Amino acid sequence: MSDIIIGIDLGTTNSEVAYIRDGRPCIIEVDGSQLLPSMVGLANDGALLVGQSARNQYVLHPERTIRSIKRRMGEDVKVKMGEQDYTPQEISAIILRHLKTAAQRELNEEIAKAVITVPAYFSDAQRQATRDAGKLADLEVVRIINEPTAAALAYEADHTGQRNILVYDLGGGTFDVSVVRMEHDVTEVLSSHGNNHLGGDDFDARIVEHLINHLQDVHGLDPSSVPAAMARLERAAEASKIALSDAPYARIEEEYLLERDGKPAHLSLELDRQEYEAMIDPFVDETLEAVHTALRGAGLTVSDLDEILLVGGATRTPLIQHRLEADLGMQPRTEVDPDLCVVAGSAIQASVIAGQQVASVLVDVTPYTFGTSAISDLNGETYPYTFVPLIRKNTAIPVTKSEAFTTVYDDQETIEVQVYQGEDPDALNNTEIGSFRIEGLSEVPAGNVIVTTFALDLNGILQVNSREKRTGLEKHIRIENATTRFEQEEMAAARERIGALLPSDEEDADSDMQRKNVQNLALIEKAERLLDTAPAEDKEDLVDLTEQLRDALSAGDINAQQHASGKLSDLIFYLDS
Ligand code: AMP
Repeated sequence: MSDIIIGIDLGTTNSEVAYIRDGRPCIIEVDGSQLLPSMVGLANDGALLVGQSARNQYVLHPERTIRSIKRRMGEDVKVKMGEQDYTPQEISAIILRHLKTAAQRELNEEIAKAVITVPAYFSDAQRQATRDAGKLADLEVVRIINEPTAAALAYEADHTGQRNILVYDLGGGTFDVSVVRMEHDVTEVLSSHGNNHLGGDDFDARIVEHLINHLQDVHGLDPSSVPAAMARLERAAEASKIALSDAPYARIEEEYLLERDGKPAHLSLELDRQEYEAMIDPFVDETLEAVHTALRGAGLTVSDLDEILLVGGATRTPLIQHRLEADLGMQPRTEVDPDLCVVAGSAIQASVIAGQQVASVLVDVTPYTFGTSAISDLNGETYPYTFVPLIRKNTAIPVTKSEAFTTVYDDQETIEVQVYQGEDPDALNNTEIGSFRIEGLSEVPAGNVIVTTFALDLNGILQVNSREKRTGLEKHIRIENATTRFEQEEMAAARERIGALLPSDEEDADSDMQRKNVQNLALIEKAERLLDTAPAEDKEDLVDLTEQLRDALSAGDINAQQHASGKLSDLIFYLDS
């Protein structure tokens, strides 16, 4: 039997399993994916389906498929699957067993122990039900830990000193915000708040509503009573939502969605990010209110916070990141995959219990912000070089982000795209690392949309592409060493600045010589002036030393110059005083 303790995130939508390899969390793939849908079902032939296969049959056979069982944990209920009734513990045990089997396969050993995460608000009954589910899956649950604690461990396992951390967790169907305090080895949830019926699924539902309205307006059709069409709309809505996290527009194309008078009706429309953000804004408002409730519950104010950590797939939504930053005045951390943060932390906890050394999750991030400039508002005034960041500092790489820009005057034929690296809202204070120009844009009124895309890879290569949306006319550049370039350029700029002050070694020697020559000539002049007034007994020395210095100067003999000038200045000093 193995000593390895696995970490499990038994989630409402998805579940994951991880262990520690070489001191770092390693996520185990289950059925070819790191995320196992938390769904269980029975196929026609009675075969047990777990994960993606259960998810696939859900639309067709909801009566034989169970989803979101986590919501029922701790309740004294039975759920029906096919002909049989099951307790929530039993359904969860099926998911746990599937995860355990995947871990055994990956590690090639029998696994008997696990750490399982639960929401901070879980009651004793819910925690006990989770332990029981573990037992049914032949897993000894060595510890149940809170999900926000696990997230904090994933980010901060190797941090020392006290930290107050806000963990904002927005998944598919639940929202939790917790304030966690880490001090030395102790991690404590100070307060927790949320809504366990709010999440990314609500965002999808708003898009579905929008699509239904569109079908009614354009085709006079209502898909609400056609389950197959509704299932397709839900998938399309989720896909467009995910696309809008990285791009300003998403196209939705569903051919042969419905029929009207025997003729097929196709759904084809474009959703833009602004429209979508207006749909979900009220949900985001609600989460921000919960953030402040949690802070009050912890007896803290915004200024006491050291970090904001984002957990849950729906936190990839840019609006959420922007609103949190605007509200709390701090850029939330996103570098650890928000879907895998909790399971990584549970593996860290498992490994600490097993007495192993661990470190927090390491990810490749960009150390700088990359963006372009546009005419926009800066400090309340319209400014032509306002910095528009596309890839923010500390974003996990590889990453691709797009934004829409518009032309500013009618028939604008060209645009110049500047690429900057830096953090200043005024692009001119950042480092320009490239630029290009698109010519031959359409002769249309101002507002012609140009979509600019930044793609940064693990090798620090930044590809920037701008495309006129209506025609597809595009231009791009590739910038090598984007992530190290700043250091090189900073170094060069620093050299230049200092260089203006410091002469080179050669220049230094030359100017030193010139300075001395000037001094020596001034000394000779002074000696000549003194000749008239000097006492007779000193005149001869004065003439001799002046001659010696003149000879040394014309011979370029530095030592002789030094010798003669030293003596001559002593004599002049004596005669002067
Ligand atoms: P979780 O329960 O943490 O796995 O989160 C799942 C939710 O995150 C679902 O509603 C997904 O549609 C949503 N989600 C996943 N990726 C993204 C993304 N890139 N942008 C917005 N939402 C996403």
